[in-house]
Amino acid sequence: MNTDSFAIRHIGPRRTDLPKMLKTVGVDSLDQLISETIPDDIRLKEELNLDEPLSEQEYLEHITQLSTLNRVFKTYIGLGYHQSITPPVIQRNILENPGWYTAYTPYQAEIAQGRLEALLNFQTMVTDLTGMELANASLLDEATAAAEAMALLFAVREREQKKNNATKFFVSEEILPQTLSLLQTRSMPLGIELVIGDHETFDFSSEFFGALLQYPGKTGKVYNYKDFIKSAKEAQIKVAVAADILSLVKLEAPGNFGVDVVVGTTQRFGIPLGYGGPHAAYFATKEEYKRNIPGRIIGVTKDTDGNRALRMALQTREQHIKRDKATSNICTAQVLLAVMAGMYGVYHGPNGLKYIASKVHNSAVTLATVLEQMGFTQANETYFDTIAIKTNTDYVKPLAESKEINFYYPDSETVSISINETTTLKDLNAIVSVFAEADNTDAIHISELLTGNKIPEEVARKTDFLTNEVFNSYHSETELMRYIKRLERKDLALNHSMISLGSCTMKLNAAAEMLPLSDPQWGNMHPFAPTYQAGGYQQMLRKLENQLTEITGFAGTSLQPNSGAQGEYAGLMVIRAYHESKGEGHRNICLIPSSAHGTNPASAVMAGMKVVVTKASDDGNIDVDDLRQKATEHKNELAALMVTYPSTHGVYESAIKEITSIIHENGGQVYMDGANMNAQVALTNPGAIGADVCHLNLHKTFAIPHGGGGPGVGPICVASQLVPFLPGNPVIATGGEHAITAISAAPWGSSLACIISYAYISMLGTAGLKKSTEYAILNANYIKQRLKGSFDVLYAGERGRAAHEMIIDCRPFKSNGIEVTDIAKRLMDYGFHAPTVSFPVAGTMMIEPTESESLEELDRFCDAMISIRKEIDAADKDEPNNVLKNAPHTQQMLTGDEWELPYTRKQAAFPLDYLNDNKFWPSVRRVDDAYGDRNLICTCEPIEAYMEV
Ligand SMILES: *Cc1c(COP(=O)(O)O)cnc(C)c1O
Repeated sequence: MNTDSFAIRHIGPRRTDLPKMLKTVGVDSLDQLISETIPDDIRLKEELNLDEPLSEQEYLEHITQLSTLNRVFKTYIGLGYHQSITPPVIQRNILENPGWYTAYTPYQAEIAQGRLEALLNFQTMVTDLTGMELANASLLDEATAAAEAMALLFAVREREQKKNNATKFFVSEEILPQTLSLLQTRSMPLGIELVIGDHETFDFSSEFFGALLQYPGKTGKVYNYKDFIKSAKEAQIKVAVAADILSLVKLEAPGNFGVDVVVGTTQRFGIPLGYGGPHAAYFATKEEYKRNIPGRIIGVTKDTDGNRALRMALQTREQHIKRDKATSNICTAQVLLAVMAGMYGVYHGPNGLKYIASKVHNSAVTLATVLEQMGFTQANETYFDTIAIKTNTDYVKPLAESKEINFYYPDSETVSISINETTTLKDLNAIVSVFAEADNTDAIHISELLTGNKIPEEVARKTDFLTNEVFNSYHSETELMRYIKRLERKDLALNHSMISLGSCTMKLNAAAEMLPLSDPQWGNMHPFAPTYQAGGYQQMLRKLENQLTEITGFAGTSLQPNSGAQGEYAGLMVIRAYHESKGEGHRNICLIPSSAHGTNPASAVMAGMKVVVTKASDDGNIDVDDLRQKATEHKNELAALMVTYPSTHGVYESAIKEITSIIHENGGQVYMDGANMNAQVALTNPGAIGADVCHLNLHKTFAIPHGGGGPGVGPICVASQLVPFLPGNPVIATGGEHAITAISAAPWGSSLACIISYAYISMLGTAGLKKSTEYAILNANYIKQRLKGSFDVLYAGERGRAAHEMIIDCRPFKSNGIEVTDIAKRLMDYGFHAPTVSFPVAGTMMIEPTESESLEELDRFCDAMISIRKEIDAADKDEPNNVLKNAPHTQQMLTGDEWELPYTRKQAAFPLDYLNDNKFWPSVRRVDDAYGDRNLICTCEPIEAYMEV
């Protein structure tokens, strides 16, 4: 056996386990299982054409080599991205720690209290700094957050009597270019008219529903927006502000001026630049808009025993419930990055942040002063960190680059310099020497920082922030390390046990895939650095695009979207642009099967399409007759079909080719939701089923960890006719010849995270990828067989096989008084995270083991499920005081002096022997969702402030 092979480390079952597993499943070979599972007519005829797989060692050498092609200059470009210092204690204990990065979105709150608390810290930090009432637990990037703000203000505009029909949205010309591009993308399908201009001459009497300002402006100027906001309010125009989070330490919180939404990025709170991402954006608003906030919000509630507990609040806003009534499609966000940024706030506290902000400000002041003394004109009268030097850029630019320095050049006479946390005296002197040389004068040496103040008194910060205990307690490394560990211990992640969340593909996130993320050669690259400096990134991104194009059987790939849902939106916008290019811009009907993920209809509506739902047949497949009838009925307006394959029911529908050709015959394009790509890679592909575009969730199929709910990367891969429309970027050229405007802020989205998928594909190669898919299918079918007799599987393929996941029916247990949630909570006592609950069918669970789980782990999970089934049988509807209804059981309960439950402590917490060796304790009892929603608290208030008296 070749122990250098990455595939044998990535795939769970051992070769020696195979006979037993095949026997259980009832086949002679893996090939037989696959041919009984995937319809013949969509199987790939040829092997994928990918490079030979690299061993882990070879890959690490290769990626280090590639990193040397990144020339990391001192970069003062700014524009929403500033190099920062990731505190090593956060890097090592969070970013490099599978206890944090392999967790899932905290759907099961009782085993997620650690990251829920970290996110509550993040929200508190944001509400404090922005002066708003509520903040969410992150969005994808600043530009997306700004677009979401516009969408929110548009959605709530009818609350103002004068604004019912207003469609104009004012955007200050001081807005960042990538934000503007994204607003253009998002406004067009919604029928919003963007008006870009100078906020000082804005006409408040006109028909605007909202406005967006940048604070400080993109050129660095700090404006006093008080009058604008006051006049806007009088005119019933809602105001959103995109604010730099570090500047808010020195600037008065926008919330105190009465704005409605504040958005921005928290990248400069300790997150690597990573050539564009991933970073957490923030979104803060007023309580009155709580039901319209995009993304997830963490809130405080209580558990069964009345103890404080956290969970995701207001889940009624989820797309799964709202579907085509949803105003946002955000699902995966940037949890890991929000956790890190929040921890940066915890570590530095208010005084640390003040020190950093002052250092940055004083550095800018010192630089401006010295350059002025040398005869240069500095154009920003007010500023926080960005100065504008007037000079001929033709001299400065080449000189600066020869000294490995990047500035931003808004025009041929201005050099814009944004100072950041990492800027030292040495760096300032290097900047000065560029100007001295360009102007042929003597440099004035800076030997210490001056203290100056270029922030106008009217907007200087006077309010406190981060006064809570958590931000004033963990300022030594030992204390922070232990705080992080304390939170980590409350969370169940992949380093404890299998997380079989159907549709989420919780596979191994290998250490070798993750290691390069800590390398500053990858971490410190600014997204708007000239591409010639980013040779390593350019090669890696190009190769990954090619790999994904090959795997999907398409012609081109865009890595820009930062999540699956953004991929859906990007794909539909590309389809829209394609139809328009053929003079068929009126095509706006999107067919979506009833079983689709909630983000599908939400994305379609955002892309300006009308959703027509197609029926499922009794066996769970798309009802082809219904589909044909609807496609023909709407043939003049048909834009697209969105279809998940294999279906969300875990079945490779054999009619898929017929389905895609019906759409094509009626003038539509086929969008394949690629969340289930783990069931396809190297065996079939979207090209083979006749789709035109798909998104991939690199954070599902391609090994990027979920990070507790993000980062995600949701590239779209497209057939040749759609390549010209792949999304662009206003600063760095990317995308197709007729590129649509931006989908994400950065040209290649979350480039840093892309390295993980690049590693995954490069180390598995064609054979390893194929084997992974086969074992994903084998593992699922093994579970299906083992659970036979205990749980009914709802749907299967024509020959009785599951795909890579299956849905088990928990509805029959209602006769014993047991709901699917009780099973989910009881699994915690057995040390497992529940499978996906009630998607796509209410009252069911969807199990997806992935190829990475070993036979031993699959068996433990099945033993737990079978044991739970026995507990269900023993349960009585009229006697709800049972082991399922009381689940999960905490250590506190078990070790209490009293035990009055009608079962033993062992039955409660150690029902199977394997638990003696590896017990996970939920840190709270079952959380009360409804109580928390009725008493919404989304910041770390002292406990007395919200408990009932
Ligand atoms: C996960 C998922 C999505 C959404 O992806 P995000 O990255 O969370 O935005 C869409 N469709 C299906 C079927 C999914 O499982």
